[in-house]
Amino acid sequence: MKKEVFTGSFTQQEPIPEAAQAAALRVMQSGRLHRYNTAPGEVSEVALLEQEFAAWTGARHALAVASGGYALATALRALGVGPGDKVLTNAFTLAPVPGAIASVGAEPVFVEVTEALVIDLDDLAAKLGEADVLLLSHMRGHIADMDRLMEICNAAGVRVVEDCAHTMGARWNGVMSGRHGVIGAYSTQTYKHMNSGEGGLLITDDAELAARMVMLSGSYMLFERHGAAPGPEAFEAVKYHTPNVSGRMDNLRAAILRPQLAELDAQCARWNERYRTVEAGLRGTPGLDLVDRPQGEAYVMSSFQFLLLDWPPDAVAEVIDKCAARGVELKWFGGAEPAGFTSRYDSWRYAPSAPMPQTDRILAGLLDLRLPLTFSLDDCAQIARIIREEVTDLYRRGAPASD
Ligand SMILES: *Cc1c(COP(=O)(O)O)cnc(C)c1O
Repeated sequence: MKKEVFTGSFTQQEPIPEAAQAAALRVMQSGRLHRYNTAPGEVSEVALLEQEFAAWTGARHALAVASGGYALATALRALGVGPGDKVLTNAFTLAPVPGAIASVGAEPVFVEVTEALVIDLDDLAAKLGEADVLLLSHMRGHIADMDRLMEICNAAGVRVVEDCAHTMGARWNGVMSGRHGVIGAYSTQTYKHMNSGEGGLLITDDAELAARMVMLSGSYMLFERHGAAPGPEAFEAVKYHTPNVSGRMDNLRAAILRPQLAELDAQCARWNERYRTVEAGLRGTPGLDLVDRPQGEAYVMSSFQFLLLDWPPDAVAEVIDKCAARGVELKWFGGAEPAGFTSRYDSWRYAPSAPMPQTDRILAGLLDLRLPLTFSLDDCAQIARIIREEVTDLYRRGAPASD
């Protein structure tokens, strides 16, 4: 029998909504693309986006910036992290996270990952004495027990910055991701939950941190034109002491994000339908472990992960090749060489790490696929069938027997 082949593209996004296209045109017609270039009485698109994002997250303050990576570095700078400091972070994350730490001259202290793909809270507890800040990556949308995490971090006086690049719209026990730590950081890069090509957002309830982040982002003394910044009094203490590390968002990006924010909750539900379709299609596949999702977690999954735990690397590579031949692109976080978006803690050689055996074991078996909203539910079911057939076939032939 001829084997079915998937023909969709794993990197094709939906078009930018028409309302967003129209808003972008209006900004271009005005010529006022810079966030501080406003007509008398006008509130800029960026300031409006900040107001709306603050309202949507429930945060007191929000700031729009040039990228997610810039948002992370700005959060660290605002917290006073500098050269020689250590910052706790996940060993399983993407390169912009250790990159943000290195960009302020600090060094990551990596924390192990669990089979649930979240930061290992026991390993974290053991390392809390090594740093004052945890840059927590909710990698691939998997959320740790945030009640316990905040309890142990608060007890140790460690401040938490949440990297919500993959959890915009997700919640832990009803509290939105980004609202547990002192600062939440988001990306609006094309592969995240809202698409402005490049872009980032920061939220906090802390007026002083918010004022510092606004100054850092390149506000000059125009902070009164912000949408969700603290009042001028909060800037008195910081405005002469905070360097301008220019990284503002522009009105064009903000204009295309505002209509997307209005649709975001509905889009999140569509991602989760796709995630659950793949999950249902893979459930019970021999040799394949699905990731357990805890009770308290309300996820938003724009990608899918599964584990071929303790399979030898050749067998994992064979699954990837067989699936690729049938149009299903799997990313492997355990590959010996970094490829595409995936890399591992030991390929970030500017940030040396002790060996992390638990993380090595997970990454060696961790496969990942994107679920763009251009996939139909039938597409997702087909993708799951193809993976299931190839994994089952290899498993039956005894390939995964570890040596
Ligand atoms: C994308 C991403 C970032 C950085 O966002 P950019 O907007 O690309 O700079 C940070 N952390 C994680 C986990 C990401 O996936």
